Amino acid sequence: MNKFFDAHTHAHFAAFKEDYRDAIRRALAAGVGLVNVGTQKDTSRRAVEVAHEFENEPVYAAIGLHPIHTSKSHHDENELGGGDSAKAFTSRGEEFEYEYYKKLALDPKTVAIGECGLDYFHMEGDVGKLKRRQKEALLGQIKLAHDVEKPLMIHCRDAFDDLIEMLTTNHQILNTIPGIIHFFTGTKDDAKKLLDLGFRFTFGGTVTYPPKAGMPDYAALVRFLPLDRILSETDAPYVAPVPYRGKRNEPAYVVETVKKLAEIKGIPADEMAEATVANAARIFHI
Ligand SMILES: [Zn+2]
Repeated sequence: MNKFFDAHTHAHFAAFKEDYRDAIRRALAAGVGLVNVGTQKDTSRRAVEVAHEFENEPVYAAIGLHPIHTSKSHHDENELGGGDSAKAFTSRGEEFEYEYYKKLALDPKTVAIGECGLDYFHMEGDVGKLKRRQKEALLGQIKLAHDVEKPLMIHCRDAFDDLIEMLTTNHQILNTIPGIIHFFTGTKDDAKKLLDLGFRFTFGGTVTYPPKAGMPDYAALVRFLPLDRILSETDAPYVAPVPYRGKRNEPAYVVETVKKLAEIKGIPADEMAEATVANAARIFHI
């Protein structure tokens, strides 16, 4: 059994094109199990393929359509690579295609649906239409999570009111443990409502950064949340924890985040590591 768990990472993204196997092996050698999270068709399929390359290891996949990929505006070279073909591919804007994702969702290595959710931070053009597209894609993924009985992996930025409203409206079709709010940036009040709905929360490298105006008070949130609702993540290749801040992040670095979570919570690092692994095992059925 692994000692740590990176519940949300992207070691299958273009940023790891040359060395994803090495990065995953480094994580496994450090005792870190992980979930590679897809963001659209291509990266979702790839997450499942990579999980099967490590068939008997704690390497899993989440599959889904990220809200920013429901419109045309976004291209991130760390995610999809450079060059015109990658750009042409992503510039379409994707609608959630239930059957395509259902096939991937049923794979035994797939442990969650997402990342899905709402992101009102990146918005250009017809805001009403963009929000509708995001909501449709999220609703499709709530249904899929229900149909395959797997938890949601939720991304939410600047949209907690709408997210909470949608989750509340669809509460009857959410699973008993409905899912994870990844990289939580809401308020304590949002956290309370999401706790009541049964959600878990992942924290990443930002908990190791000094507090900053305009950013959530992560320490207060971690202290507020019950230990059985907290998971650890890296969101690699982004937001590396101290002492790796500014470098390309990778799953093995989750160890630093777990240490910091323990310090904030005032418990031994071993106990925090155990809790984050147990919480991941419970929600992902692994
Ligand atoms: Zn992510």
